[in-house]
Amino acid sequence: MCVGRNYREHAKEMGNEVPTTPLVFIKPASSVVADGDAIVLPKGVGRVDFEGEIGLVIGRTLRKATPAECAAAVRGVVAVNDVSARELQKSDPQWWRAKGQDTFCPIGPLKEGTPDFSTLEMVTRVNGQERQRGHSKDMVFPIPDLISFISASVTLEAGDVVITGTPEGVGPLVPGDVVEVEIVGWSTVRNPVMAEA
Ligand code: ZN
Repeated sequence: MCVGRNYREHAKEMGNEVPTTPLVFIKPASSVVADGDAIVLPKGVGRVDFEGEIGLVIGRTLRKATPAECAAAVRGVVAVNDVSARELQKSDPQWWRAKGQDTFCPIGPLKEGTPDFSTLEMVTRVNGQERQRGHSKDMVFPIPDLISFISASVTLEAGDVVITGTPEGVGPLVPGDVVEVEIVGWSTVRNPVMAEA
């Protein structure tokens, strides 16, 4: 489960309003790859961007849960790259093609534990150069509130991953790049980028 436009500066750089309720979408399980796996740029989709994001792995079933219950149900933290085909994101009212293609959801190793949800820090680097630095204190909706909002409509199960939006600084990937998302002190996912054969 994914949240869009959860940092004011990123909403602004994309020309979007800051939402008044969380903007939630879903990436399919088939888009998930691990640390070290390639991100494959599909033929004919145009620009494909990286989006570094803080991911939370859910530890038990949550249904209509309060923010406090959701905070207590988090099993740990993962680094996630919400890879996004921008032209499809603009042309399609739903984002399953833009954000759901195979390899478009690299997820780093899980570090178990309950974070301080207001002090998480995320850094994205492309070819070793820093491109994004975000802090969870700058989120429009705090992490426990996001999980609670989702659980009001959809039952979350153990092992589900909630990703919490990207800060400003997104940009395109090209074949040969290596993109890395680090949640400082928790998890890193690093992936080479290649063109579809
Ligand atoms: Zn995103």
